Amino acid sequence: MSADEFSAATPITRFLIEEQRRVNAQPGAVCSGGFTALIHDVRLACKRIAALIGKGALANALGDAGTLNAQGEAQKKLDVLANEIFVRTNEWGGQLAGMLSEEQEDPYEIPPQYPRGPYLLLFDPLDGSSNIDVNVAVGSIFSVLRCPQGVTEPTAEHFLQPGSAQVCAGYAIYGPATMLVLSTGRGVHGFTLDREIGEFSLTHPNLRIPATTSEFAINASNSRHWEPAVRRYVHECLEGQSGARGRDFNMRWIASLVAETHRILMRGGVFMYPRDRRDPGRPGRLRLLYEANPIGFLIEQAGGRASTGFGPVLEVTPERLHQRVSFIFGAREEVERIERYHRDHNEFELDVPLFGTRGLFTTPTV
Ligand code: MN
Ligand code: MN
Repeated sequence: MSADEFSAATPITRFLIEEQRRVNAQPGAVCSGGFTALIHDVRLACKRIAALIGKGALANALGDAGTLNAQGEAQKKLDVLANEIFVRTNEWGGQLAGMLSEEQEDPYEIPPQYPRGPYLLLFDPLDGSSNIDVNVAVGSIFSVLRCPQGVTEPTAEHFLQPGSAQVCAGYAIYGPATMLVLSTGRGVHGFTLDREIGEFSLTHPNLRIPATTSEFAINASNSRHWEPAVRRYVHECLEGQSGARGRDFNMRWIASLVAETHRILMRGGVFMYPRDRRDPGRPGRLRLLYEANPIGFLIEQAGGRASTGFGPVLEVTPERLHQRVSFIFGAREEVERIERYHRDHNEFELDVPLFGTRGLFTTPTV
């Protein structure tokens, strides 16, 4: 490799500063360097987590922590450590008014010895942590909101903003390579961590999701609980070339939102974690504020569509900090088709005449 090739890849620092200059060049723009500093700290948190995860069992950090998180889920040791890293790396810089983590019930208050800034940082410090003990890709997800004007002591209500209000969103994926994928509302860009120099470089500028696909991802073990729209969609995919879609489909399921998102940004596809009929009070599994919203922002910025099945996920008005939503995203035309199916037969009772009795997804007797 020549020196030219070495310096050809844009380091993330340069990318962010040039983005900042572009914004500042617009008439009336007021973009300080604070936002860039915030993303620098987020990136450092991700590098610290990548280093820890990369040590595997050697760091003595695998396995259960023996504690429960804000939603009563068992925490892995790495859930707790990754949360600690995110909080400690981002609390001091003076860019934040507050933070919200998947692992903590209430918003995290910036300690009084540190200055406060105009942004709120919401994150899932370790996504897909059930994969950690089997050495499969996991990630971190983050979302940046503006703290409402004049608020220096944000409470829960100030975090309850729709996904369309995000100023930045992204994730890190800790796989064979560590990558940081982010958007500040001007496309989606992927950076790969060069471990030798300890820095992320721009390797995947302007990611775009093809409008159609022949690949879908869903946890099929829940099929008996699915609503009719989802049953119909998956049924038609499984029928393949001889069915309504006239072509064969592949199925993938990694059980890590970050890894599923990354696959879709790299080569297309559609992901579904739909609402189902198990518990009407629980409209889905993924959390709106620090999972569906940041991922939805990236997907829409890459030309895909992010939906609840009933409408854009970024337009959902949050009611609770750890609220869950149904989440369907990826190839625009496929997601629009699934939304159409939701409109056409939204009620479970309408299920019966739509499906035959053969095949994997037969109509249940209700
Ligand atoms: Mn998660
Ligand atoms: Mn998590």
